[in-house]
Amino acid sequence: MIMTSDEALRQLLDGHQRYLRSQPLHQHQEAGWRVTLAFSQHPFALILGCGDSRVPPEIIFDQGLGDLFVIRTAGHVPDTAVFGSIEYGLEELNIPLVMVMGHERCGAVQAAVKAMDTGKGSPGYLGDIIAAIMPAVAQVKDQPGDMIDNAVRANVTLVLRKLQAHVPVLAARIQTDQVKIVGARHDLDTGEIELLG
Ligand SMILES: [Zn+2]
Repeated sequence: MIMTSDEALRQLLDGHQRYLRSQPLHQHQEAGWRVTLAFSQHPFALILGCGDSRVPPEIIFDQGLGDLFVIRTAGHVPDTAVFGSIEYGLEELNIPLVMVMGHERCGAVQAAVKAMDTGKGSPGYLGDIIAAIMPAVAQVKDQPGDMIDNAVRANVTLVLRKLQAHVPVLAARIQTDQVKIVGARHDLDTGEIELLG
């Protein structure tokens, strides 16, 4: 199944509308489909999202087995394993759509805002996650409005830029219109996905 980037985005958003209406199809979850996929996969979208238990992409977009290539880390912070996973998704699976999905009240972003306020980081690897989000927090600290939500949005934009800077095949395929990259914010209250420019 070869899709264009626009068709892939449409498929994702159609599934999201079904989820919002509480009319999910739960397609591609039956045994027969599993057998069909056993020796090959053709996911149409790659989603880098947060590990938060409330934002699983397969549920939010009403997709099933073989549909989405999902990478999740706290605050959707990318490291070299994430860059390599994206290379795999593009070079081996020819995925036409990459989405970075942040969400309202992200705990990782909240921790980064707190670290900025108190001047204290976190011990262990959590400190690395906070350090990675910190530039997004610094960018919005003087902006009006909800600082955490502003930082959630800035963190999506920051990661979009990082992926393009660190994954050459992604930048090249965006350039040639083979791949579209989009940012998104998931609203925990309404369940809605807002695409970020
Ligand atoms: Zn989160």
